[in-house]
Amino acid sequence: MNAFYGAGNAANARNAAAPAGKKKNEARSPRLAAVPPVRIAALYGHNPKQNQLLASLPQEDFERLLPHLEFISMPFDMTVCEADTQMNHVYFLTSSVASLLYETRDGASAEIAVIGNEGIVGVTLFMGGGASPNRAVVKCAGYGFRLKASVFMEEFRRGGALQQSLLRYTSALIAQMSHTAVCNRHHNVMQQLCRWLLLTLDRLPSSEMAVSQGLIATMLGVRRESVTEAAGKLQDEGMIQYRRGHITVLDRAGLEHRACECYAGVKKEYDRLQCSHVAAAKGAN
Ligand SMILES: [Zn+2]
Repeated sequence: MNAFYGAGNAANARNAAAPAGKKKNEARSPRLAAVPPVRIAALYGHNPKQNQLLASLPQEDFERLLPHLEFISMPFDMTVCEADTQMNHVYFLTSSVASLLYETRDGASAEIAVIGNEGIVGVTLFMGGGASPNRAVVKCAGYGFRLKASVFMEEFRRGGALQQSLLRYTSALIAQMSHTAVCNRHHNVMQQLCRWLLLTLDRLPSSEMAVSQGLIATMLGVRRESVTEAAGKLQDEGMIQYRRGHITVLDRAGLEHRACECYAGVKKEYDRLQCSHVAAAKGAN
């Protein structure tokens, strides 16, 4: 038997294993309940190593965490963590994409970072906080694995590969936040939209994303009409196709050409991170 899970995770995996968007009671059907969690994850083609941080760990370290990793469905709009609330878990995303949002007192919000299979939601835990100053919300539905904060911190404090990978990841995340802040202040909506589409695309398994123009406007902190106008131009130029809340990227190179330097700056940092992940995995396994 493939050993993705310990028996203790069975209930969590079962409850979480329905494809995103399906009702909870479908996930708890007796037929599905009889399936071991490992099979459920495999059924949906999922493996914790689809997360790059987990994939970079030496096998011994990975196997120490494996019994504690809970396979979860991450549906659209799921709140992964609330701002200023103690986090009980960290989330290793595999096929989902989450946004870190800063929300003002009057309810306005803007995205400060995108997180996908290259990282985790929960860096504040090991940065000495415990409570995130930002809200994290799923913007592209998919799956992930979560780990109890206590188990995660125990592994982090060992000072091994996980700690090293997380520190490098945090550096790339800070770079992304810096570029986002500059982009939101100095670049136009078309450039911001191209950056946003590319960053999201990099974290998805396909070139199609289920996202409305209203949601993009919220993420960028701009008027919806401005996003509609910019998206219309990209569609006229054959770079994207927008239909009923779905955007398909048709010309990635074209988007890169239209984007400001912020996308390239962020990508460079993450490419560096990925190279170090690959090097670490090769060296350790
Ligand atoms: Zn920019």
